[in-house]
Amino acid sequence: MDLGQWVAQNGTPVVAAVALLGLVLLTSLVATLRTKRSRRLAHERHTSLFVNNTAAVAAVDPKGAIERVNPAFTEMSGYDEAQLRGIAFASLIAPDDRARVVESLKDDSEHRPHSVESRLVHRDGLEVELEITSVPIAIGDRTFGTYQIARDLTKQREMERELESRALHDHLTGLANRSLFSDRIRHALQRVRRSGHRVALLYMDLDRFKLVNDNAGHAGGDVLLCEVAARLRNFVREGDTVARLGGDEFAILLEDVADQEEADTAAERLVDLINEPFKVNGKAAYVGASVGVAVSTPELESPEQLVRRADKAMYEAKRRGGYRYVPYTSEMDTGGIRLGDHLEAELRRGLAAGELAVRYQPVVDLAGTQIVGVEALVRWNHPVHGLLPPSSFIPVAENAGIIVQLDRWVLEHSCRDIRRLLKQGVIQSRPFTLSVNLSSQHFEDDGLVDAVYDILTAEQFAAEYLQLEIKEDVVATGAEKIARLKSLGVTVAIDDFGMGDEPLGYLRDAMIDVLKVDRTFVMALGGDRISTAVIRTILSLAEMHGLQVVIEGIEDPVQIEALRQLGGRLVQGFYFVAPVEIDELEHLLTRGLAPAFIYQPGRRAPAQEAPPEAVGRG
Ligand code: C2E
Ligand code: CA
Ligand code: CA
Repeated sequence: MDLGQWVAQNGTPVVAAVALLGLVLLTSLVATLRTKRSRRLAHERHTSLFVNNTAAVAAVDPKGAIERVNPAFTEMSGYDEAQLRGIAFASLIAPDDRARVVESLKDDSEHRPHSVESRLVHRDGLEVELEITSVPIAIGDRTFGTYQIARDLTKQREMERELESRALHDHLTGLANRSLFSDRIRHALQRVRRSGHRVALLYMDLDRFKLVNDNAGHAGGDVLLCEVAARLRNFVREGDTVARLGGDEFAILLEDVADQEEADTAAERLVDLINEPFKVNGKAAYVGASVGVAVSTPELESPEQLVRRADKAMYEAKRRGGYRYVPYTSEMDTGGIRLGDHLEAELRRGLAAGELAVRYQPVVDLAGTQIVGVEALVRWNHPVHGLLPPSSFIPVAENAGIIVQLDRWVLEHSCRDIRRLLKQGVIQSRPFTLSVNLSSQHFEDDGLVDAVYDILTAEQFAAEYLQLEIKEDVVATGAEKIARLKSLGVTVAIDDFGMGDEPLGYLRDAMIDVLKVDRTFVMALGGDRISTAVIRTILSLAEMHGLQVVIEGIEDPVQIEALRQLGGRLVQGFYFVAPVEIDELEHLLTRGLAPAFIYQPGRRAPAQEAPPEAVGRG
């Protein structure tokens, strides 16, 4: 039984009423005390959270002025609370980041916390990297400003930078590693492509390093490698890059050289520099340097190619006994076989053994970003030297008189490949052109027209799909031959147009269909006025004579934008696709160019662009 029931049963009505009243008062007093206590507790908890928080917190009013800060905030900013109260929170932020923070302060419409990264300027003038989370102070529907909670990112950033740097540098010497080095070369090549300067790569392998390692132990070897690194750093100019590519291999990228001679001089000095004795564990140690030198040339396809050239030259330096430098020559591409020696016999053998291969480079129409043709480019899959580019064996084939045989093999092979794709319905685009190169020697061969006819017939390849590329030097005298070729139904293109010094009168009479513009005119497109002017002239010349123009060697979007503005439409270049194997071509035709390759000028919304048509859609 509780108190109320007891009074009701045992007391008089008055006593009972008084007792009941007292009971009600008592209960409400206890309740009030309880709420007050819990409010006070909540407040204290809140204050404790604010004051003792290791994150820096500022309470900011709706206008962005600071009302209160916690001790962590005063420590982080270097100002005490009295100095901070009333000033604009944003005034503490580094000027570059200020607009963003002001925006974030305003942006509490959703009553949801959100974060920005920015830098706060400490009283001592140094910047602190922060992540600032803005939390609305909301009661019910109303907000009374925000809490700005700042987390110091300095340590995290330092760690990130440290990790990044470790990923790009050699642990032992602190020099650039292979990955950073490739990156530097790539950038340097892009730069020189624009400026017309050259870069040089010195690839160095130490001679007799093994001896030092054997005598002084690994620790001694490491000391020597660090000493070498120090000498190399001193050797180069600012802006050049020194890398350790592994073991006792180093490389230097010289960013700006005038010619091969200047690079050779640098290589000579490098050999001398390494010849000077080193000190390892207090004793003199002697090593030498084998250095390969490669200077960038306009037709260079990738950073790796430059490294490979310098590497080949370095091997040659080793082969000749070390302690020297050797400049790269194109003969090294054929593994040191001298042009004209065995190469000729080798090529005959390779041709018979089926070692030649064809790569296809798509021709892209900028208007619809689709593949409207391909150029067949020959390769030699050499059993020892790997895949050889045409530059290393076409001249041999021409000298040896086997170019006709080689060209016909390419013609046959590519007609067969492309006919299969046409038949399978993989190629949907019409018109579609297979473009095949003819050496000038081949063009002048008496059997050419019959041979083309025979191949078309044998391969059941419709002539309208075939285009033959001939060089400018044979056009002027070859009008009659061109007419006979055209009567077969094929089209004719002039390759490397504009490179020769032929007068252009032939354009009027020679029945040419297409001009292919060499990539040397394209390299500076967008920057260089002269190239732009040349291309503009070629385009208007072509329009006058009703010819198509294919621009070769497009490597970056700046060139495409410039070309579009000039009215160019057909392009070929690494930016879209490098020459690929037939299977890869089939793949490309089936799925269309990858979105990354579909260029959108000025990043306009895709809707405003001509829709990139998927090529070969069923
Ligand atoms: P080309 O006829 O001017 O072929 C274009 C060359 O430019 C190809 O070199 C191609 O890989 C390269 N190229 C295409 N786009 C770019 C780019 O964006 N940047 C750079 N740097 N290069 C690009 P490739 O395949 O090494 O062929 C070189 C030359 O060899 C050809 O120059 C052509 O004159 C000759 N050639 C290739 N195949 C044959 C053939 O079957 N017969 C004959 N006679 N000559 C051939
Ligand atoms: Ca060509
Ligand atoms: Ca060409």
